[in-house]
Amino acid sequence: MELACLDLEGVLVPEIWIAFAERTGIEELRATTRDIPDYDVLMKQRLGLLQQHNLKMDDIQAVIAELEPLPGAIDFVDWLRERFQVIILSDTFYEFSQPLMRQLKWPTLLCHRLITDESGRVVDYKLRQKDPKRASVQALHSLNYRVLAAGDSYNDTTMLGEADVGFLIHAPQNVIAEFPQFQALNTLEELKVAFVEASDRPLSI
Ligand SMILES: [Mg+2]
Repeated sequence: MELACLDLEGVLVPEIWIAFAERTGIEELRATTRDIPDYDVLMKQRLGLLQQHNLKMDDIQAVIAELEPLPGAIDFVDWLRERFQVIILSDTFYEFSQPLMRQLKWPTLLCHRLITDESGRVVDYKLRQKDPKRASVQALHSLNYRVLAAGDSYNDTTMLGEADVGFLIHAPQNVIAEFPQFQALNTLEELKVAFVEASDRPLSI
């Protein structure tokens, strides 16, 4: 039994907060964990900026609905789902990713949650668990699945290490250099070939 686990942002869709910052013109929303290493501080700042600009959940989703998956990503997910059970393991939020997941035709997504009040303002966020990508692969192993995984960044490396086979895809040079144990691929077409070769079943492209 085999599963394919994929990261979302940077693999199938753009970095959502950055794309959202570009669409809204709110420069400070471009900050990432590279600028503010404490994730809680970063998220509080993001939520504060949403309030300040009076952006409610509907407004946020309307902006994100204008975004599109990366070129080839929709076809790639279709292709993959014919060959593997597919689970997206992401550090995004359900509410935030929803418009993009719709375009990907709703593959299973395990991620986090934003909390809104009655008026639709985003007031807090809820992380599902600690080290969620690794914990998810461990849980899938406990169900006797063999797991192939692919991601693009630091937050994927524990998932890739826990998986039976892990690939970097669209990763920046520093991540590739720091994690030479994971084969690095540049395109989703290359990832197809890598998944077929890593499978324990005879698959075709
Ligand atoms: Mg990513």
